Amino acid sequence: MPAVTTATASLVPFAPSSNVAQLKESATIAVSARARALKAAGRQVIDLGAGEPDFDTPVFIRRAAQKAIDSGATRYTATEGILPLREAIAAQANALYRGTDPVKPGDVVVSTGSKQSLFNTCFVLFGAGDEVLVPTPSWTSYYEMVVLAKAAPVPVFGSRSRGLKVTAGELADAATPRTRGVMLNSPCNPTGSVYSAEELRDILALAADRGWWVVSDEIYLQIAYDAPATSVLSLVPDRERLILINGVAKSYAMTGWRIGWAIAPRAVSASMTALQSHTTSNAAAVSQHAAVAALTDTAAAEAAVTEMVRHFRARRDAAMDVLDAAGVQYVRPEGAFYLYIDVGGDGAEFATRLLDSSGIAVVPGSAFLTPEWVRVSYAAPIEHVVEGVRKLVAAL
Ligand code: GLU
Repeated sequence: MPAVTTATASLVPFAPSSNVAQLKESATIAVSARARALKAAGRQVIDLGAGEPDFDTPVFIRRAAQKAIDSGATRYTATEGILPLREAIAAQANALYRGTDPVKPGDVVVSTGSKQSLFNTCFVLFGAGDEVLVPTPSWTSYYEMVVLAKAAPVPVFGSRSRGLKVTAGELADAATPRTRGVMLNSPCNPTGSVYSAEELRDILALAADRGWWVVSDEIYLQIAYDAPATSVLSLVPDRERLILINGVAKSYAMTGWRIGWAIAPRAVSASMTALQSHTTSNAAAVSQHAAVAALTDTAAAEAAVTEMVRHFRARRDAAMDVLDAAGVQYVRPEGAFYLYIDVGGDGAEFATRLLDSSGIAVVPGSAFLTPEWVRVSYAAPIEHVVEGVRKLVAAL
């Protein structure tokens, strides 16, 4: 055996590969991390940055997970997820679906959070030279995921008069011969806007006409205030070009369990499974069993979701009262748990000042390509939400 020698070549300093050279850290994650670090250092911080329900995971779900551990759910599962979970996901989807090709368990790929499902989707559908329309403002990671797939995100800006939502006409105007898909998200992060069935129908008709992929991220579907939010599943005649993304994180207060999924045509789900088999393999076995409980114990789940939505609504209403009294411009949220507020200047500078001087963490709108805004998450105790929004108004 040759002796191990000390390196003679001079070490080249690390430089990120071209895969990630342009990649920026997630601003939503970064704000939460900074708020946590300040709290650990003894600062009083109200965190209205994180898009994370502050409730405990409902007891019936925790009990199911404990039972699963004790009965040996501690090993690898199929890459695409355990069959009972994929069956439950298919059943939940089919309860909404009116088209010709009902969802089968084989169309479902369970992953380590809807974030991974979105990444897998972008990675298997899009590539160099492709363009993907992203209604803007949109969740920060859509843009980066499309770039990681070597495709180009094309932001399409929504107008104020429609709660920053885009129309089919605006998407058509932004399209080119290279357009391959559109990312939908209703209820929307960061605005809380909800697309009506008519608005979605127009967009779906355009996408069908052009042969685009529709990626519909419905992670906030169950968190709607004025009326139930519409799933694109209830509108499409078939799923040939549809990828439906969902997960348990937001509706069931299960962010840390990391369970999301994609529902896709079989060839696409097979491709995602192959990709996942080389990256993360299966999502955590125990978490999958917890998710089965969330989706199959429908009475307990409905009670838990209804109660959480009741709290979110009360917080939203209390925050809107403060903003309305001060005449602040914001998007009136009909779903999710975000308020998108126009600060009329540099939102990043404003967010930094608000955190440093008042200890209130919010996400700058630059993360969502709309730099004059900030996002407030009201997934926090109501007294924190009210105090935080009051201080935000004072800082304005
Ligand atoms: N989606 C949530 C948010 O926008 C959680 C953080 C993240 O994954 O970006 O805050």
